[in-house]
Amino acid sequence: MLNIRIQFLKDEINKHNYNYYVNDNPTISDYEYDKLFAELKQIEAEHPELVTPDSPTQRVGSVSEKFLPFTHTHRLYSLDNTYNYDDLKSWYEKITKEYGSQVELVCELKIDGLAIALTYENGVFTRGVTRGDGITGEEITQNLKTIKAIPLKLKDGVSLDVRGEIYMPKSSFEKLNAENLEKGEKLFANPRNAAAGSLRQLDSTITAKRDLSMFTYTLVNDGLKEPPKTHYDSIMYMKEQGFKVNPNIKLCKNADEAIAYCKEWENKRFDLDYATDGVVIKVNKIAIQEDLGFTSRVPKWATAFKFPPEEIETKLLDIELSVGKTGALTQIGRAHV
Ligand code: NAD
Repeated sequence: MLNIRIQFLKDEINKHNYNYYVNDNPTISDYEYDKLFAELKQIEAEHPELVTPDSPTQRVGSVSEKFLPFTHTHRLYSLDNTYNYDDLKSWYEKITKEYGSQVELVCELKIDGLAIALTYENGVFTRGVTRGDGITGEEITQNLKTIKAIPLKLKDGVSLDVRGEIYMPKSSFEKLNAENLEKGEKLFANPRNAAAGSLRQLDSTITAKRDLSMFTYTLVNDGLKEPPKTHYDSIMYMKEQGFKVNPNIKLCKNADEAIAYCKEWENKRFDLDYATDGVVIKVNKIAIQEDLGFTSRVPKWATAFKFPPEEIETKLLDIELSVGKTGALTQIGRAHV
């Protein structure tokens, strides 16, 4: 019985990964997807003998065959996620047990776009690659060069790698969909899919016409003479070099402060012109990050708190017609919540 459920979950998740990462066209909500993923993870945690290397819980994303593959010099990971604060507290407690009662955290908005790795040699932008499956991505340097938030030259002539999120502002996404509707062309499901579809174009002049931007959030430390010792300082360093970083980053003393930040942004996020689906919480000290390391899929020194879904998908059971006093007909949908 359990084997049948596991196989069902793997097949479903693989199918949705393909729709999401390769076709840029999801057919279920992220919340629904996360529920399937969490169920598979839970079963595998209770029955480790059933974990197989090809399980989606052991891997990140997917690579398409549209562009030339490029093997990342440093692997790109996903993030563990949770929708509840108790999990966040337990994650923090596990860390403080090992590293003392006050481990500083950095909170950042989780930008709902797509992850990109950029390489600079002697201060010059030389290569940009999508995350893909974390080991291999697609080389899309030409397309990335059309995005103004990506500096082609850094302030100092340093060689380094950074990662960040490409996104399309909500207002540009709405404008693009309105134009596509008029032309009878494909509509995008959300700003993330519009950004992914715009970026993974074989013709970079199409990408150039789309309004894309990027927030940079990770500095790969090893090329620098004096690398920053904290994540917060690395963000400031990237800003200084000319990268666009998100202004809403916050240094927190402990999990309670991080939770307060998540609560604050649960509503404030609707005022932003870019989509965020949660908050990423990272251990600030790089030495602790290095000590904690990674699982096969995610860093142990970071986690994502995901905001509750804006809409929960429902099953429409019936549509009833109601006749008003004036004789006007109103349609009323009955749905499962
Ligand atoms: P994720 O999007 O949940 O989290 C990891 C990603 O967060 C990173 O790769 C990075 O791109 C991004 N990120 C944004 N802001 C960041 C910041 N400040 N710091 C660090 N990282 C930041 O994980 P994922 O592996 O990209 O995708 C899995 C998620 O995608 C699922 O949880 C689900 O929500 C969604 N998904 C949906 C479907 C679907 O059919 N609806 C299918 C597959 C995946």
